[in-house]
Parts: sequence; C-alpha cells; structure tokens
Amino acid sequence: MPSSDSRRWIPSVDRLLASPAIQPMIERTSRGFIADLLRSVLEQIRRQLDSDAAEAWLEEGVEKHVVERLAREFDRVLRPSLCRVINATGVILHTNLGRAPLSRQALERIMETSGHYSNLEYDLEKGRRGERDGHTSQLLQSLLGCEEAIVVNNNAGAVFLILNTLAENGEVIISRGELVEIGNSFRIPDILCKSGAVLREVGTTNRTRLRDYQDAVNERTRLVLRVHPSNFRILGFTSRPGVAELISFCRSLSIPLIEDLGSGCLTDLEPWGISDEPSPRRNLELGVHLVCFSGDKLLGGPQAGIIAGEAALVRKIRSNPLFRALRVDKLVFAALEGTLQSYQLNREGIHILAIEMIRRSAQSIGERSEAIISRVKALLKDFEVTLSDGLSMIGGGSTPEHGIPTRLITLCSVRTPAIEVERRLRMSKPPILARIGRDCVLLDLRTVSPEEEPSLVRALENLGS
Ligand SMILES: *Cc1c(COP(=O)(O)O)cnc(C)c1O
Repeated sequence: MPSSDSRRWIPSVDRLLASPAIQPMIERTSRGFIADLLRSVLEQIRRQLDSDAAEAWLEEGVEKHVVERLAREFDRVLRPSLCRVINATGVILHTNLGRAPLSRQALERIMETSGHYSNLEYDLEKGRRGERDGHTSQLLQSLLGCEEAIVVNNNAGAVFLILNTLAENGEVIISRGELVEIGNSFRIPDILCKSGAVLREVGTTNRTRLRDYQDAVNERTRLVLRVHPSNFRILGFTSRPGVAELISFCRSLSIPLIEDLGSGCLTDLEPWGISDEPSPRRNLELGVHLVCFSGDKLLGGPQAGIIAGEAALVRKIRSNPLFRALRVDKLVFAALEGTLQSYQLNREGIHILAIEMIRRSAQSIGERSEAIISRVKALLKDFEVTLSDGLSMIGGGSTPEHGIPTRLITLCSVRTPAIEVERRLRMSKPPILARIGRDCVLLDLRTVSPEEEPSLVRALENLGS
C-alpha cells in the first residue's frame, strides 16, 4: 500500500510544465490554463493516493500517469457542450434537437454579417439610425401579403406581446377546445394571465359554436383568439366555427381576430400528405387581423416569433416597451433574412432543409438505406439488419397524427438489447440518435443528410466490433 510518503513522488507543477509531452497542449492554449488544469489533476491524484491503483502509478511513473490524465481532462474541458448530432429519429422538427436545421443561405448570411459590423440598426441611405426589423419586414410583407410584420424572440413571446398590447385589463374570448399546452411550458391560459388579459372561455372541449362567441361579447371584450391546436387533435364529435365565419363575426363587431398559427407554413405541403397546416397568407387574405407563428417550425428558419397583419395593430404592438425586451439578435435577423430570401427565390421552399426532408420519397430513403445495409451487414454478425416500412414525423407540434411514409434501417439482436444499441449509437462521435420499436433500433434517413452517411456507417461498423 503506498503510504502518505508517496505524496512526495508527485512531481511539481513547474516540473510538469517543462515536460515535452505537455508542450503541444500549452501551445494550443496557454501556460496559465494548463497550470490550472495540472493543479486540479494533481489534486485528484493526491486524493486517490491511498487506493490500490496508486501502486501501479508509482511503478509506472507518476509523471506518465499525470500526463495521460491531463490529456483526458484537456479533451473534456475543450469539448463544447453544445455539439452536432446526427438525427436518425425521422422527427423533422425535433424540439430537443434544435428544431429546423438552417439552410445554406441562412448560414451564409450569418457568416457574412455577424463576424463584422453591420447596418443592423443603421439606414445607409439616410445616414442615420434605422430599425433592425427593417431587414425582414419587406420580405415578410411580400411573402405573406400583409401590410406590416415584426419579429420577436419566439412565438410564445409573440402571443404574449399581442395579448399584453391589445388586451391588458380586458377580456379575450377563446374556445375551450383551443386552451392548449405546447411543449412542456407554453400554456395558453398561463400566457393570457401573465399578459394581464382576462380569459373568457367559450364552448366545450369538443364543440364550440359561433353562438358561444356571440354570447360572450361584452364591453370589456378586446379580441378573439384562435389557436391552432398543433400537437394534438380532438377526434369524433367535434366542431368549431370556420375561420371565415369568425372573421365576419369579428369584423361586424370591430373586434380584432388574432390567430396563433403555431407553425408558419409558407408552402403547399398537401402533395406530401400534410393538409391541416393553415397558411398565414391565406388566413390574412381572408381577413384575420393578425397572425403569429414560429420561425423554426415549418418555416425552416431560426427561432423567432413573427407577427403579421394590419398595420395599425402591428404598429401598436411595436410601440409596447416589452417589444424591446423580446427583441431579436443580429444572428437571427441574418438567418431569417436568408431563409425568407430562399422562399422569395423559390416559393416551393426547395432550398429549405426541413421542407426538403418532408419531400424526400420513401423510395429514395429506401435506396440510401439499402446501400448502407449492404455495407455494414457482414460486420454486424449478431444483428439482423433489414429494411422495413415506417413513418417519419413532422414534430414541433405540427400535424401530430400524420406520419410520412418512410423506410427504416432496422437493427435487431438477440444478444444486445435495443436500449443498449441505442445508447452505443448515442455515445458515438458524432452522437447518432435513433428510435426504438418492438425491441429493435430504427434508423430513418429522412432526417439524415447524405454527407452524414459515412459517420453513420462508421458508427454501425463499430457496433460489430
Ligand atoms: C409551437 C407553438 C407555440 C410556441 O412557439 P415557440 O416559437 O416555440 O415559442 C405557440 N403556439 C402554437 C400554436 C404552437 O404550435
């Protein structure tokens, strides 16, 4: 057993800093940084000196052991916490995985403007202060066909700001079937309460008629809120007034109709089986006063909340002091402008990654999957590797009951439980996230880009070793 005597075998920080093995780490960082790291490594070693392992260190040389530990610690500290992962779950707008991946055009805009100064709030023509949302307002106006549009931090912020501006101390009428919770913290009743508006629920969970809205109107009514139920559906004996019916009702009483659309779907996805995502442009054309939606759901851009509609209402919201508290950073404006420009150049959104993934055919996904299976099959002796039919999901609270037909790489093993295989894929570099179904691991290439395939193949090959 090493005694406390062995402590004197521990080399000093100064001696270690001179060691040739440590020089490359100092060159990559600094002497001070490595000295601090060495101190914490030596402290750990001191604490463990009485353990059995210490005997081996003393025999093999403490210095070698310290250098090895330092190298591990160096990698751990320098590795970013936020890192790239490969999403093989087939959930396109996966909230835990950052929702929509940005398209090339959005990334280019960030690269071009964010490492330099920019005209974020400067009017170059007039030579004076400008507005940051000026960079996206015209694009939004032309894409949405609206009078005015502004951008805030996210859609939850947009709903809050609208209610606080237009309905504080007044009543907001909303159908009981639309009092939803989205994600695990955005609850319409809570947001309403915090905004200072009073909730006036009408109808029942499954049925709300125009009559219910009519009966609720009084002199304190400020607006009618319509919320897209997004992540759930009430099926069976249900009804709610159509948007056109509510519009003529609200317009006849001069009460604004506000619609929280959840996802801003700018393209027609009906050919891909997605038919219940409302179009902001169409709803505004029909006469909804204001719509709001997220930037990072079906729009396929950065996290943002977009408020669009009648100029007088948008301007009022813009002058709320809380607009400043919910304002958006230059990186987001750069990415959003790039995303919107992609739509301007192609209204089908073919340059938007999330849309491109939705459009991938089960056949092309099947072909890519076959190619991967044929490469790894021989190495994965303990596994049955097959191709099967399945469903990809939109995610992000969009069209919950509509999966998109896809083909899945299916890994089944009698030796290794699926949760263990899933864990090993998740621990590979880069991490690969998969689904589990019927005790098999399922990989959906709908959400995997072709350039990620070599990493996926490598991780699968490692399962066999
Ligand atoms: C997703 C969603 C929100 C919240 O949007 P964030 O951009 O995540 O803040 C609000 N309302 C509806 C209907 C949604 O689907």
